[in-house]
Amino acid sequence: MLFAILLSACATNPATGKHEISLMSVEQEIAIGEQQDVQVRKEMGVYSDRSLQDYVSGIGLRLAADSDRPNLPWRFTVVDTPAVNAFALPGGYIYITRGILPYLQDEAQLAGVLGHEIGHVTARHAAQQYSRSIGAELGLLAGAIFVPQTRPFTGLGESGVSVLMLKYSRDDEAQSDALGVKYAARAGWDPAGVPQMLTTLGRIEETSDNKGTPSWLQTHPLAADRVDRVQSAVAEAEQGATSSRPGDSAPRSFITDRAGFTTRLDRLVYGDNPEQGVVRAGTFLHAGLRFAVEFPSTWDVTNGPTQVVAKAPDAAGSLMLLGEIDHPVGGDLEDIALRSMQNAGFRARSGGRTAINSLEAFVGTYDGTTKNLGRVVMRAAHVQLGRAVFLIAGVAPTASFDTVEPHFTRTIDSFRPLTRGEAEAIHPNRIALYTARTGDTWQAIAERAGKGIVKPATLAIINGHAVSEQPRAGERLKIVVSG
Ligand SMILES: [Zn+2]
Repeated sequence: MLFAILLSACATNPATGKHEISLMSVEQEIAIGEQQDVQVRKEMGVYSDRSLQDYVSGIGLRLAADSDRPNLPWRFTVVDTPAVNAFALPGGYIYITRGILPYLQDEAQLAGVLGHEIGHVTARHAAQQYSRSIGAELGLLAGAIFVPQTRPFTGLGESGVSVLMLKYSRDDEAQSDALGVKYAARAGWDPAGVPQMLTTLGRIEETSDNKGTPSWLQTHPLAADRVDRVQSAVAEAEQGATSSRPGDSAPRSFITDRAGFTTRLDRLVYGDNPEQGVVRAGTFLHAGLRFAVEFPSTWDVTNGPTQVVAKAPDAAGSLMLLGEIDHPVGGDLEDIALRSMQNAGFRARSGGRTAINSLEAFVGTYDGTTKNLGRVVMRAAHVQLGRAVFLIAGVAPTASFDTVEPHFTRTIDSFRPLTRGEAEAIHPNRIALYTARTGDTWQAIAERAGKGIVKPATLAIINGHAVSEQPRAGERLKIVVSG
């Protein structure tokens, strides 16, 4: 409601110099950034590597100091998610995922990504987007981006973060690309890092194995001409960076630092972090919350920031959902279960208390409607684990419920606590460094290093190659090794 009472004010855009209607004062921008930052940190997690955080932050702060709004309280954070993404909040809060880092080839490309996001803040795109989305009450709906196909629940950790995942316009993107180039060059990094990283991120589209996670490509539509459009800004920045000594027209040397940057990625967590749950051979294991659930082996399991979604291989649209009930309300587990389902618009058909692998549970069958499936039947178990209540549910169109019901029951019955020893035995997959030998192919490296964790095409892209190119002998490569 805060936003409804804001008065429009005319302000000068710091990055473009143009007058524009701004719904937000600088103080409000900062206040929103501060408030949403808490949400981002909570939902995505902060990657626990102090020296990597300091490194990224150091580069970001140097870029921001040379930007058009040096006085904002700039803050740069590597968030602990495998999605390939970077995003900005109003007020100078910039986030880069650990998942995007392997796709960058050098420090100049990292500076390019950070510079681009700084551009969204200095040109007030972030603030304008925020104003627009609140104005249109998109905040409540945009959560769908985290979950493919359907989102039948409320109360499963609805996210304010998703507001930030709305798309910017093509013009905003082009402007941020150009600002990224400008800021990188001013602060001493090779501005060619911007088109280079755009080229790499463009290649991901064809080979994406980040299904279901909000990615740079969802929020940053990669128009075919974007790389071309930014080239003139790069040429200009390179021109402007010639030595100031009279008679010396040699370009100032820009920082690229491929070797230093690559070394910093050694041992970086790749893919899901066990602390946030991993999927191994159809089983979802959560080392942090200490439980495991087995999904049918042919189902497609996606671990999102707020819930796990498993989709049936057939076209009927059946799916299973797993998540923690946020702030459970009710006297006992049955009360919590019935209230939370009712709040989500589902009517109880039947249900009863039971125990699942010694854990207290309430299992019920419910009728309801979802946007994508129409009338559905849901089998839902609310399970108490310590102080937390988990929901594990199967949803199917009414006509196909009976067919798929045995899968739902088996998965619900598989919910079990993990011992400390079991939890500690789950290790993340990681980035490692490797020098290519004569005759190496992406295929061979992918097979050798780890049991199909990473596709050969992904390895090529991670190393800055087109999918059709093979590694050169002696090339220093980032590879993925199993945990
Ligand atoms: Zn952008």
